[in-house]
Amino acid sequence: MKIRLAAPLQSDSVVDGFGVRTVIWTQGCSHNCPFCQNPSTHDFAGGKEFDVEDIKKELADLENQDGITLSGGDPMFQVDAVLEIAKYAKSIGLNVWCYTGFLYEDILKMGQKNKNYLEILNYLDVLVDGKFVNELKDLNLLFRGSANQRLIDVPKTLKYHKVMLIPESDGIMENFKVKKEKVYI
Ligand code: SF4
Repeated sequence: MKIRLAAPLQSDSVVDGFGVRTVIWTQGCSHNCPFCQNPSTHDFAGGKEFDVEDIKKELADLENQDGITLSGGDPMFQVDAVLEIAKYAKSIGLNVWCYTGFLYEDILKMGQKNKNYLEILNYLDVLVDGKFVNELKDLNLLFRGSANQRLIDVPKTLKYHKVMLIPESDGIMENFKVKKEKVYI
């Protein structure tokens, strides 16, 4: 299976979720959020195709990473491939964050046509959902760019059958605020 990426894997990020992370920058997005910070990732024919098996090998060789972050672009446009990657990452002990311009509720609906949208939720620790809305941009937000975007605790959300957010008042969240240095989309 192939996946189209905007860039090679980027390790040692501390700004794309908790801990030290390897970011997988997927190529392709049609949400067209005004003032998107990554317009070069929109073209579905842009970037470069990689074999998912090669991405898995790269993940297996990683050292000192807490998890992976699926970003883009929008990873959900390549759900079949990112599902394989998320599954593999979990199997080797990495946690998985995913950024998407879709809402969690959209993903549930899309799951009626392609069950992989539902399946991938079982392998996500955190879903950062929603489009970037420039009017709601706030540089004090953690791991996201605009106030409409949600940091969803996916395992809890699946357990309680309603969207459960990661509370920003958590001590863990406070520790990461000093490291915040860019706008998250
Ligand atoms: S902000 Fe994200 S979801 Fe919105 S257009 Fe840019 S890449 Fe797509």
